[in-house]
Amino acid sequence: AASRRVSALAGLAPFIRPYRGLALGALGALVLTATVSLVLPIAVRRVVDGFGSEAGLLDKYFGAALAIAALLAVGTGLRYYLVTRLGERVVADIRKAVFDRVIGMSPAFYERIMTGEVVSRITTDTTLILSVIGSSVSVALRNLLILLGGMVMMLLTSAKLTGLVFLIVPAVIVPIITQGRRLRRLSRENQDWIALSSGSASEALGAVQTVQAFTQEVGAQADFARVTEESFTSARARIRTRAAMTVIVIFLVFAGVVGVLWIGARDVRAGAMSPGELVQFVIYAVMAAGSVAALSEIWGELQRAAGATERLVELLGASDSVRDPVAPVTLPRPAKGEIVFEGVTFHYPTRPDQSALEGVDLHVRPGETVALVGPSGAGKTTVIQLLLRFYDPDLGRITIDGVALPDMARNDFRRAIALVPQDPVIFAASARENIRYGRPDATDAEVEAAARAAAAHDFILDLPEGYASFLGERGVMLSGGQKQRVAIARAILRDAPILLLDEATSALDAESERAVQRAVDVLAEGRTTLIVAHRLATVKKADRIVVFDRGRIVASGTHDDLVAEGGLYARLARLQFTEGAVAAE
Ligand code: ADP
Repeated sequence: AASRRVSALAGLAPFIRPYRGLALGALGALVLTATVSLVLPIAVRRVVDGFGSEAGLLDKYFGAALAIAALLAVGTGLRYYLVTRLGERVVADIRKAVFDRVIGMSPAFYERIMTGEVVSRITTDTTLILSVIGSSVSVALRNLLILLGGMVMMLLTSAKLTGLVFLIVPAVIVPIITQGRRLRRLSRENQDWIALSSGSASEALGAVQTVQAFTQEVGAQADFARVTEESFTSARARIRTRAAMTVIVIFLVFAGVVGVLWIGARDVRAGAMSPGELVQFVIYAVMAAGSVAALSEIWGELQRAAGATERLVELLGASDSVRDPVAPVTLPRPAKGEIVFEGVTFHYPTRPDQSALEGVDLHVRPGETVALVGPSGAGKTTVIQLLLRFYDPDLGRITIDGVALPDMARNDFRRAIALVPQDPVIFAASARENIRYGRPDATDAEVEAAARAAAAHDFILDLPEGYASFLGERGVMLSGGQKQRVAIARAILRDAPILLLDEATSALDAESERAVQRAVDVLAEGRTTLIVAHRLATVKKADRIVVFDRGRIVASGTHDDLVAEGGLYARLARLQFTEGAVAAE
């Protein structure tokens, strides 16, 4: 949980620094309006005290009041413009900075923090900061200036009455603070109940058919009624407190004002003070009191924004377990695509007690196609993850063309790799853009050629708008086999010397199966290929099969060799592959 120290707002300083000019301009406008506001009561006093004197003077005073009003209006407008612009600018910068940081984070980072939380920090937390920079801070500063200036002017106007006010103030402040604290706790409680109540409603409504099919409406009603009543009960407590507080505060404030006026009026009668001075004093006192009220309200907002700042600064400063070297070696081009694993042992950060890979030695020659097979959880996908350097091994090393991965920039060697993941990602964009993701500068003709090679051309043409068809969020418009072919087209377009392919485990219908298989054959041609294989057809075509079991390589060779050996592979081939093939027929 973030602390509520307002000092955490200092974390915003580096983002405000580039816009010093804006900030100083806003500060100037703020000081101007505060000063003008503080001058106003003096003008009022002069008007009151000079009421009986000649008409010319009166006109002058009212003229001056008009000028002051103009200054106040322009100063306030200027402050609003500068401060809001500054806030929007700074928040846009923070959003970009945080996104730039997290988009490059390795998967280990996302195992510690939920993506939803990162997104909420980028959107909700920055909105809090916007409200602080764009208004709260300037309102707080203005009120602080008015409070300090108001107190000085009160003292200058009448030391006696000021002393009296300082006697009264604690009597008003103490209940405000204690009741305010209680009120905040009650509102938080109320918010929690409201959140629970909406959670309960959305769960029941989201599963409304299940609720009705199981005739659980009464249960759902009771659940919802319970949390809604709880929320009402806590709201009632909050309202009671607030009402009581209103009674106390209004009475105390007015009693105080009446008391001061009473003593002041006696002084005016006795001639110790002019009526104008009394009016001036009361205006200052009201201004100062208003500032205190405003400040106490803004304090909570500043605290929340401080928490938000802390969370964002934490994201910006988050260290990544995988880092690029300071002086990276570049992968020799054109890359040959030779892959070597030497004694690689690895466990996922979230599973410290269990190795995903254990002493893996693997040498893949340029242009070779190697199928990785083994039971689920054996470590096949992990090999691919390590080759992309999403994680670093605990022991051993991995090289591409003789260069160890940690000696290169990740963006450098990843450019030599095309990936077809098990569950292909389709972006909310057109078919063309989705394929072009593999190489953003590819021409339309190149995109189509890739789609043809991936056996995707025909079904794309059948879509309502051909290549311009929007594929919908996460590719809802496509079948599993079609998604895979789009992903393969993307990889063909990327034209990288190394291909990493995680075959889908789910069985496709026979036709898709053959189409995908043909596409894979085209793609693997002339490239170093590592395939996490689930299909017998794929395995048979591979130059070599490497069998994994519990993180270790237990056998390697051709299909016929391994079947003849009669080990784990022979069993898998008999069971899994044939069953898969049967399912596909
Ligand atoms: P395969 O691809 O052979 O099915 P994996 O390489 O995905 O196997 O998994 C190897 C082991 O690592 C399994 O025990 C799996 O549970 C574990 N594992 C995989 N991914 C993660 C992860 N992100 N965090 C923790 N453990 C993981």
